Amino acid sequence: MFAHVVRDAHTHFLSYSFFQKLALEAGLVEPDGSGSVAQAGERLGWEMPDPDPAWLAGRWVSEMDKNRVAQSIIFGSLPDEEYPVGAACRAYRDRLIGFAMVNPVGSDKVEAVQRVVDQGLKGILLFPAMHGYRASDRALYPLYEAADEHRLCIFVHCGALKVAFRTRMGLRSPFAGEMANPLELQKPAASFPNIRFIVPHLGSGLLRELLMLADMCANVYTDTSGIGGWARYLPELTPLTALKRAVEVMGVDRILFGSDSSFFPRGFRADVVQQQMEVFARAGFGHDELEKVLGGNLQRVLGQMVPA
Ligand SMILES: [Zn+2]
Repeated sequence: MFAHVVRDAHTHFLSYSFFQKLALEAGLVEPDGSGSVAQAGERLGWEMPDPDPAWLAGRWVSEMDKNRVAQSIIFGSLPDEEYPVGAACRAYRDRLIGFAMVNPVGSDKVEAVQRVVDQGLKGILLFPAMHGYRASDRALYPLYEAADEHRLCIFVHCGALKVAFRTRMGLRSPFAGEMANPLELQKPAASFPNIRFIVPHLGSGLLRELLMLADMCANVYTDTSGIGGWARYLPELTPLTALKRAVEVMGVDRILFGSDSSFFPRGFRADVVQQQMEVFARAGFGHDELEKVLGGNLQRVLGQMVPA
């Protein structure tokens, strides 16, 4: 499918324990009081994973093989998913790189980072709108300091946040969108120049604010997932012009390919990749630009953490 080495910066690893937590929140419980994964599967209409994270890791790696994807960053997509993500990465060390979601509100930030590090993960996911805080809050600085010390990446979801699995589960999503402005990251990004901050989806509708941030902070990156969707919020922009604007301001070196793949049986989103490849072609990307966006940039972001 690809002539270049592809590394996917955005895949959700929806583990057995992830679905247990989700089911519990939706009130779907087994007689022993645990969240019912089987009932969650019925409600979602998705294939549920085996309890062993290595099984799900294998499922993803065979999807990657089929689609010629060399490596993927996999996201623990609720807090406290460090263990399954870590176990998945240990099963396929040269293929999977793990990031875990941390809710810093009311938790010990240094301890939270330590749990991520203990599982051999390489990044932290922050969702300010979901958990109700601002990335600029001084209370988060111990987390940034610990992440800096351990050379972790920090992914910060800004802008619009639609969580399809919550809607399908019948769960409400009272997120604080106003707290998720990319400019909240200006101070932290400037204060911690060695941390690579990734703001996904070209800012999820806040492209202008992402570009203002990225123009001031060279350590801010973005990913290409969802470019078809978020450009709808910007009346004067299309996916093509949004991408071109990002290249103009950020340079091609800070744009990472992301598929936003998440569940089975859908698996790896080859359809999204096809759409993105068309946008890349129309943007005039040649061999060098494709090499960088499809995988080279991610390899550089993660440094020696990613084997060649
Ligand atoms: Zn995503």
